[in-house]
Amino acid sequence: MNTRDPAALRELFHFIDGKQVAGESGRFGDVFNPSLGVRSGRVPLAAKIEVEKAIASAQRAFPDWANTSPLTRARVMFKFKELCERHYDEIALLVANEHGKVVSDAKGSLQRGLEVVEFACGIPHLLKGEFSDNISPGIDTYSMRQPLGVVAGITPFNFPAMVPMWMFPIAIAAGNTFILKPSEKDPSCPLRLAELLLEAGLPPGVLNVINGDKEAVDTLLNDPRVAAISFVGSTPVARYVYATAAANGKRVQAMGGAKNHMVIMPDADIDLASDALMGAAYGSAGERCMAVSVAVSVTEKTSNQLIESLAPRVRNLKVGASTDPQSEMGPLVTREHYNKVRSYVDLGVVEGADLVVDGREASFPKQGFFIGGTLFDKVQASMRIYKEEIFGPVLSVVRAQNFDEAIRLPNEHEYGNGVAVFTRNGDVARNFAQKVGAGMVGINVSIPVPLAFHSFGGWKSSMYGDMNQHGPEGVRFYTKVKTVTARWREGVSPGANFGMPLHK
Ligand code: NAD
Repeated sequence: MNTRDPAALRELFHFIDGKQVAGESGRFGDVFNPSLGVRSGRVPLAAKIEVEKAIASAQRAFPDWANTSPLTRARVMFKFKELCERHYDEIALLVANEHGKVVSDAKGSLQRGLEVVEFACGIPHLLKGEFSDNISPGIDTYSMRQPLGVVAGITPFNFPAMVPMWMFPIAIAAGNTFILKPSEKDPSCPLRLAELLLEAGLPPGVLNVINGDKEAVDTLLNDPRVAAISFVGSTPVARYVYATAAANGKRVQAMGGAKNHMVIMPDADIDLASDALMGAAYGSAGERCMAVSVAVSVTEKTSNQLIESLAPRVRNLKVGASTDPQSEMGPLVTREHYNKVRSYVDLGVVEGADLVVDGREASFPKQGFFIGGTLFDKVQASMRIYKEEIFGPVLSVVRAQNFDEAIRLPNEHEYGNGVAVFTRNGDVARNFAQKVGAGMVGINVSIPVPLAFHSFGGWKSSMYGDMNQHGPEGVRFYTKVKTVTARWREGVSPGANFGMPLHK
């Protein structure tokens, strides 16, 4: 794969059994460089039979890998981390060139992924079970966490490094073999990560990458050899993945879309809140599941101050190519997504929201899928631009008169991923954290993404399933508990007992 010349047209592949494998289905997806607006490569879209080859490879690799000591598996992760650090710039460029986020942001997302690798390096400790000595004379009970087998991850376009790295480091370190089906929009980074893992000493077949669309996903959801599915993407697909995989008896976690609110109380430092909103709403062109897309300002005075502070900043956002060090915000991922985001700006105007800054009119390079930062004021909860996920650099300000009205908005919203409150009042903050209906809460922190050793997951339509990504929940997701009750000769009392076994 040529990673040095971003202008070269890349012919992408699957990664099965430790080897690059050309697509056989004859179906391909286009990969773009969103900063230039041109096609940069094509990715094969796997047919069912190709996915089955990846599953067979993972199944073959499972017994030996599961039998490898956790310490040896952890050492592969250490080496992988070292290799990713050595190839940091190259990987970040792959992300920036196919996703469109600016290089510094791509590096940050890789860093967040590597933190999960660091967490997975502690797998010998994380897999330790419990032990109860002498639960009855001569009898002990202990538990162990064992891998599930072949597991699969299906990931979205917006974090081609970080989201796969939420999944496979823990799954693999725990002794599973893994099939990754990354987004067909930016597959080069996940393919490169798989190559680096092989270089780090991972046996062939332990991580396979299969590129594809619904056909590949459906094969993973329906094949009985796949024990668990981790999905991250939009809510309609998350619902479908959850329902299908669960009906097939698989363990499944399915993270969906979001509409994250940030409440700004009258006592908040408006400049601080406005700075935080700029990064949270417009960073990565709003293509983050933890992006803040709704600011709820409490009282008219706070709302007026917030708009006054935000408007010039949004107008002056530096929009440009992802590789330009001056750019604060890059393009959207595809022309199709650009059209969707633009149509939401049109819709907001039709719905009667106050368009304070119009991203359609901003200054940005003429080629590429660019749109400027957009700011709407006086958005109502009944409007579609409030209810639906836009996934672009569009911030809606909703004016609330008091705390109760403000907290009701995220609580009544369909989504419940992240939420934040900006205030100087500890009681208000505590009350908010206790009562708000979302999975991740920030107090004077606009993007409350938990670090790798905590767990990531939303509520309501932002998440289907029981266990979150990474941290202790990640270890639980990729392992099953076995509890052993053991009695040796000295604990055996003679004679049959036909009653319920009781320990004395
Ligand atoms: P998407 O749902 O279109 O695609 C996600 C994955 O599902 C891709 O691998 C894709 O190939 C596959 N897919 C798409 N349509 C499918 C179908 N009909 N059947 C089976 N598989 C299908 O999502 P996206 O546009 O790539 O990513 C953006 C979305 O992901 C946003 O909604 C964002 O909020 C969400 N997201 C959520 C989280 C989270 O943790 N909650 C994190 C990142 C992104």
